[in-house]
Amino acid sequence: RSKRRGRGQITVYSREIAQEMKRATQLEQALRNAIISDAIDVHFQPIVSLANNMVLGFEALARWNDPDLGFVSPAVFVPLAEERGFIDALSETLLRKAAEAALSWPRELFLSFNLSSAQLMDPGTSSSVLAILARVGLDPHRLELEITETAVMSSADTAHRIIADLRAAGVRISLDDFGTGQSSLGRLREFIFDKVKIDRAFVSRMNSDRASEHIIKAVLAMCEGLELRVVAEGIEENSEAAKLRALGCAMGQGYYFGKPADSAATLRYLQTHYFELGSEREIA
Ligand code: C2E
Ligand code: MG
Ligand code: MG
Ligand code: MG
Repeated sequence: RSKRRGRGQITVYSREIAQEMKRATQLEQALRNAIISDAIDVHFQPIVSLANNMVLGFEALARWNDPDLGFVSPAVFVPLAEERGFIDALSETLLRKAAEAALSWPRELFLSFNLSSAQLMDPGTSSSVLAILARVGLDPHRLELEITETAVMSSADTAHRIIADLRAAGVRISLDDFGTGQSSLGRLREFIFDKVKIDRAFVSRMNSDRASEHIIKAVLAMCEGLELRVVAEGIEENSEAAKLRALGCAMGQGYYFGKPADSAATLRYLQTHYFELGSEREIA
């Protein structure tokens, strides 16, 4: 009896594995088609000055709404694209679209774009990024690239060369999701970053957990000493914005200020949220 059940389980498992593999293949095929047919779009989320809520720039976030699969998160398809070797094609299209959209924003506003770890292992990345900017006509000084610590560690020499070349051209580098993953403070000694983005995990726990508030305070003090600009990610409530402002955090991003929106909605957002302050305007 138990033998029969055992065999049955094996059948169930192998069917599940087969279904899983089928789904993975479907996803991969759909992603390949989406990239070829240019179906992946880019949305923009505002990054604001916490001192006065003025928008300083936008982070570009990839969006894929497949007719069959529905909404697929970039946290799923970006790693898949990396694994399958599609990331260059995908990222180049997204950067081109994002840079084109940024051309119709006020010139003071920056565009922040996520670079994947696979791209930091590819020595061709810096010239490909700069070529796209040149083709579109976006000043490299308006671009920031968000990278994670794991990305810099995986292929350190190549990553450092890419970052140095991009910074020499005026592109700024942000350390994304700071405080998560394989964080190492030693990384900040290398002075390869212009900005640090404090991960949403600390912001969302700040009001309930004293430890998170202390960590944020320590990060702010450290970044001030190292002359790094700081953005707090994932601000959803006024109380979080107020507390971060009181702690002296310069910039914020999150649903409280605006959710990611397509380029047309972003232009409408700018019409109501952007005020020209000329020379008084803070440089992000
Ligand atoms: P990320 O770069 O850390 O982006 C921030 C994520 O937090 C985004 O998720 C954004 O929609 C979300 N977020 C922003 N504010 C809030 C908030 O107040 N509350 C909550 N709960 N979430 C908030 P999204 O768009 O799903 O992207 C997930 C990740 O996928 C990104 O994390 C980034 O690592 C990656 N990604 C997205 N677009 C691209 C891309 O074009 N290229 C690459 N290489 N990676 C991308
Ligand atoms: Mg990011
Ligand atoms: Mg992040
Ligand atoms: Mg992330």
